[in-house]
Amino acid sequence: MTFRRPTKHCRECGTAVAYRLPDDGDTRERAVCPACGTIHYENPLVVVGTVPVLDDRVLLCKRNIEPRRGKWTLPAGFMELNETTSEGAARETDEEAGAQIQMGPLFSLLNVPQVGQVHIFYLATLLSDRFDPGHETMEARLFTEEEIPWDELSFRTVKHTLERFFADRRAGRFGLHSIDLT
Ligand code: ZN
Repeated sequence: MTFRRPTKHCRECGTAVAYRLPDDGDTRERAVCPACGTIHYENPLVVVGTVPVLDDRVLLCKRNIEPRRGKWTLPAGFMELNETTSEGAARETDEEAGAQIQMGPLFSLLNVPQVGQVHIFYLATLLSDRFDPGHETMEARLFTEEEIPWDELSFRTVKHTLERFFADRRAGRFGLHSIDLT
């Protein structure tokens, strides 16, 4: 996961954009190009990932990239064009951890309006405890609930998703959790 950057230059002609109300009656300030008039709309990005589980342990990845390099995360990243949320979550799990999984149900949907993101996590069953982390990951390993490095997690969405996961596991049933982080 990385954070989005606001538009600085026009994607059509490269001129520095200005944030202002467009002339078309729009009620929000947009990145408008003063040279060619292109309006650059910025909308929330979708981050997709998994909670990969093997028996009583969950797979976490130690980030090798900024932001939060060295912190632990569930495998997750930005959804790409031409894929579903589930396909994106599986792809990120493969790219970041090299983990063999069987995808499970949708588990958490977290709104993070302050950074303009929606995070979506699926449950997944690990088919093996062998991992082959990509360049974005220093280390991929399994943690029991007691071993989870709660103070060394990368993102609030990961913490909330893990908290709900272990609470549901104790309760013996997994729900779908919709969470607004403000
Ligand atoms: Zn332009």
